[in-house]
Amino acid sequence: MSKPFLQIRGIRKEYGPVTAVHDVNLDVAQGEFLTFLGPSGSGKSTTLYILAGFEAPTRGDILLNGETLLSTPSHKRNIGMVFQRYTLFPHLTVGENIAFPLKVRRLPKAEIDAKVRDMLKLVRLEGFEDRKPAQMSGGQQQRVALARALAYDPPVLLMDEPLSALDKKLREEIQHEIRRIHQQTEVTILYVTHDQEEALRLSDRIAVFSKGVIDQIGTGPELYANPATRFVAEFIGDSDFLPCDLVTAANGKAEIALAGTTVIPNVPVHGKPVAGGKAALMLRPERLRLMRSAPGGATAVPVTISDITFLGNNIHVATETARGDALAVRLPFGHEAISSLSRGDSVWLGFDPASAHVFC
Ligand code: ADP
Ligand code: MG
Repeated sequence: MSKPFLQIRGIRKEYGPVTAVHDVNLDVAQGEFLTFLGPSGSGKSTTLYILAGFEAPTRGDILLNGETLLSTPSHKRNIGMVFQRYTLFPHLTVGENIAFPLKVRRLPKAEIDAKVRDMLKLVRLEGFEDRKPAQMSGGQQQRVALARALAYDPPVLLMDEPLSALDKKLREEIQHEIRRIHQQTEVTILYVTHDQEEALRLSDRIAVFSKGVIDQIGTGPELYANPATRFVAEFIGDSDFLPCDLVTAANGKAEIALAGTTVIPNVPVHGKPVAGGKAALMLRPERLRLMRSAPGGATAVPVTISDITFLGNNIHVATETARGDALAVRLPFGHEAISSLSRGDSVWLGFDPASAHVFC
């Protein structure tokens, strides 16, 4: 296997009594689009700032092509950065903003002019060269910031919630642009967001941050199908949890007892299972089957319908178990069961134990 391009090794960052990042480890491949996904305060930005050289870690190392970056000051790391807020120089034109990092690097004028033209083309802002940032929309300003960050061909581009100040439609449009630019330039991108949909849309792999550590790293489908922790299960996709008792567990599979059902074998189990202990069964709304009559032999939970909501291409059915736990099921629009269902009906929600998860 080739040597990893970028390695984050045991990074920790303390601010006095606050530990912002506990122990972050990560290998990033060249050309990869990797996203830090997590709630506010989970240490995403701090990790990014350490990579950029704006902050020094309390412990740990960062290697680019096998060499430590920590002894190189921020302005010599050659790493591009785009922030949440527009950080263009307001008194400079768009062209001058993009040229700025190239002038700092003392490139010849003809080369700078050609590069500015290339970058304007890359972000589809040809003809905007002489505008001032204030004469452009938020989305256009972020595209200029992207052009400026990419102008000197950095090996790595860091982006910290660059779209969070934009409205939904514009955000989706620029997500599309960022994907295209990534494919076109093959620059390695580390991207920060708290929005799971954005992370799924953009990334080759996602690192899920929780309280200063990475809970799990994987592709979107991997995290969705096989969440390592309850936190990841709740953060990627929709899920409900039912309390259950763990009967036995071995080789990553558990046998569980769930109120209203017989004992269910062969459910993938995570955490530290203890026979006879309490656990939580995770069920995803789109993986449940709705049945009108008691299923013979199938694994199913008896529930009562509490609400039915039409959501365009699918229908959300809210249900409750006898002990009052909420369990949602999503059915495709036109599902034949829907027309005959109403609030208060008793039904069964069937599931394949192999597609469920138990967290201890
Ligand atoms: P995120 O980007 O995931 O929202 P941050 O990396 O910004 O999280 O912050 C992680 C934690 O570290 C938070 O609890 C935050 O309050 C704290 N923190 C970040 N920067 C500083 C700082 N300069 N001084 C003190 N605490 C900080
Ligand atoms: Mg942040």
